[in-house]
Amino acid sequence: MSGPISQADSAASIEEKTEPALRSSFELYPSRVAVVGNTQVRRALPKRQRRTIGAWCFADHFGPETLNGKRGMEVGPHPHIGLQTATWLIEGEIVHRDSLGSEQPIYPGQLNLMTAGKGVTHSEEFSGRKITSMHGIQLWVAQPDATRNGEPAFEHHDAIPEATFDNASAKVFLGSFGGATSSARTDTPIVGIEATLGIGSSVFELRKDFEYGLIVLQGMVGFQSHIIAPGNLAYFGADRYELPLTAREPTTFLLIGGAPFPNNPLMWWNFVARNHEEITQAYSDWQSRAERFGQLSSSLDRIEAPKPQFM
Ligand code: MN
Repeated sequence: MSGPISQADSAASIEEKTEPALRSSFELYPSRVAVVGNTQVRRALPKRQRRTIGAWCFADHFGPETLNGKRGMEVGPHPHIGLQTATWLIEGEIVHRDSLGSEQPIYPGQLNLMTAGKGVTHSEEFSGRKITSMHGIQLWVAQPDATRNGEPAFEHHDAIPEATFDNASAKVFLGSFGGATSSARTDTPIVGIEATLGIGSSVFELRKDFEYGLIVLQGMVGFQSHIIAPGNLAYFGADRYELPLTAREPTTFLLIGGAPFPNNPLMWWNFVARNHEEITQAYSDWQSRAERFGQLSSSLDRIEAPKPQFM
């Protein structure tokens, strides 16, 4: 999926800031509603006050949406640099196609992970098979300097390891959690899980060197006196060794985390870079159909880049 970044992504206001009594910081943000292709999304990340969580730099929660005969998600060919896209579905189906020659349907509980590096083109397409609903999340991971100018790559994982806890379970799609480890590529210390919480409480063990974000997909999560609902991003700062959560109904949420990202990534449109010059070059290269983005033929229209405001 495309996830163009615009100035509106920095406009959301913070609802709550650190309480001194807490061991580490807790912040609760509203998501911003945006439209990507033919789909309405709730953009949880980035925020002006919170650009990254570990190397996670972007999160679009789409659905649940009943399609009523409408086609599934469709986003035409567009480029990326300097990031990995991670697609995770709860319901529905999307076909990923890219300039590496990949053509990969994804179903709930599977991971599509595309590494852009110096440049790649991809599209999200409708399989043509009848699907009744779409629900999922599109995430971006900023690449570190060591790999961000490297070759693009694509991985599909249909066997996702699971960890079980008292009253909870977790599908570990990136990194390690609760004794389960994903085989998917990671370029920085990072974790991503889909957790399911039964009615009652559960305590998750955390890494003290990681910061974490929580996005509820279905149900609601209680943390101390706070309710975290779909449409919120909850942020938990580093130095927290456990996360006690409660649920009044069966609840599914995403927990993403990692070591605080050392660089301040500059995000513009579908590009993650470090400075304006890199963005300007990527813009020009996409507009001139330069070799770095490869070739992808698609029945969907190619997406043209808006001109950077700083050019
Ligand atoms: Mn994309």
